[in-house]
Amino acid sequence: MDHQDKVLVCRDCGKEFLFSAGEQAFYAEKGFQNEPTRCRNCRAARKGGVPSASQDSGGSRPLFSAVCSECGKDTQVPFKPTAGKPVYCRDCFQKRGSRTTRRSPAYLD
Ligand SMILES: [Zn+2]
Ligand SMILES: [Zn+2]
Repeated sequence: MDHQDKVLVCRDCGKEFLFSAGEQAFYAEKGFQNEPTRCRNCRAARKGGVPSASQDSGGSRPLFSAVCSECGKDTQVPFKPTAGKPVYCRDCFQKRGSRTTRRSPAYLD
C-alpha cells in the first residue's frame, strides 16, 4: 500500500499541516484507524498540559456559600465545604496564613 503526503487541517488552530507518507506508514503500522486531527504544535501543546485558550474562558468559578468558622460571617468559597472541616472567609484565611507563614507583619496590630 502506497502512502502519499497529505495535507490535513488542524481542528485546534485551523492551520493546514502535513500528514506525511512516513507518518501514514507509522499510523498504519500501529493500526490507528483515524488520521491525526491536530497539527504537531497543538499535539505538543496538549501533551504538555497547556490549557487551550478556547476552554475556561470567562474565568468565573462556581462558588459555594459557607459560614466562616472563625468569625461566623457568611462567605463564599471556591470549593464545596466539607462537613466537619473548618471554612474561613477571605479575611480570616489571610490572617491565618500570615500567622503561620509570618510573611505579612502588616496584619499584626
Ligand atoms: Zn494546530
Ligand atoms: Zn472570618
